[in-house]
Amino acid sequence: MKKKRASAKEVYTLADLKNWRDVKPPVRLGVLGDPVEHSLSPQMQNAALKQSKIEMQYARFRISSNDLREALESIRKLEFVGLNLTIPHKVAALEFLDSADDNVKRIGATNVIKIENGKLRGFNTDGRGFARAVREEFSVDLRDLRILVLGAGGAARAIALQCAKENCERLVIANGTFEKGQKLADSLRDFFSGPKVFGPLPRLQAIPWEERAFQFQIANVDLVVNATPVGLNRGDASPIPARLLAPHVMVYDTIYSDKRTPLVSAAIEAGARAANGLSMLLHQGALAFEIWFQREAPLEVMRKAIL
Ligand code: NAP
Repeated sequence: MKKKRASAKEVYTLADLKNWRDVKPPVRLGVLGDPVEHSLSPQMQNAALKQSKIEMQYARFRISSNDLREALESIRKLEFVGLNLTIPHKVAALEFLDSADDNVKRIGATNVIKIENGKLRGFNTDGRGFARAVREEFSVDLRDLRILVLGAGGAARAIALQCAKENCERLVIANGTFEKGQKLADSLRDFFSGPKVFGPLPRLQAIPWEERAFQFQIANVDLVVNATPVGLNRGDASPIPARLLAPHVMVYDTIYSDKRTPLVSAAIEAGARAANGLSMLLHQGALAFEIWFQREAPLEVMRKAIL
């Protein structure tokens, strides 16, 4: 008699990892986070695996900060292929990696792990995913833009580094804790020492999280990026109100949602073009797939799965 196929659990825990009962196709990839229930990565990556005829599944793992070390040890033994990391593990996972690429070292956060011969190798695909998303949403390249980034956490550092690497025209960083924004700007100084000169404003600067500073900078940038969680929770206001935005700016909110985020609503109210973080989620996921399998990701199938 044919054995019935077992389907993967909605969410696995550390206890599941320690007493692993595999399913068919086997779970060999997953996202680690806490909370993790909201993650759209499984539907996106499972669609890609199916389309690519790779006999594996991708699952969610709810792992607390205290259990990260043990979870990664179990996953290493179970010969997984790769992982994504989300809140709160992107920074904490660094100490458990066997190696990290240059992006991870500079950003200080990893969102993708590839497991090879029992070794955990860390990558960060957020910056490149962001660049691809901006190109797709607005048909422009970062190198042609003056950019205001809100935030100085993991996502902001990945985005700011990518903007710097692509030699954007200007980069302005606004963060609640000013010193953190200043530190991020300082870490990117090398990229802006070249001869590209545009007018009297500094090509790289940190600004305080203040209305007057926003107002001045918005008149002098082309793209505003929200890399803070402001707008994620119900009742959150837009990090920048509509009255400070203007029709000439493009607005990219890294928060993803099937509804308009507060910042996207504010941008539309101001007559600006705006997009939310679904396209960044898609492209960082496609880049992760390419790291794990060394083959092109089926982008359109992945896009359909998250829309
Ligand atoms: P993080 O490391 O915790 O950093 C959070 C940043 O937001 C910090 O700079 C913090 O400022 C700032 N912040 C928090 N609350 C704020 C408030 N009320 N007002 C002003 N600033 C505030 O988080 P992260 O990993 O960078 O993630 C940030 C967001 O990026 C997430 O919420 C997620 O939506 C988004 N994201 C999207 C994708 C995608 O694929 N679309 C990928 C990664 C991240 P302080 O330094 O002053 O605390």
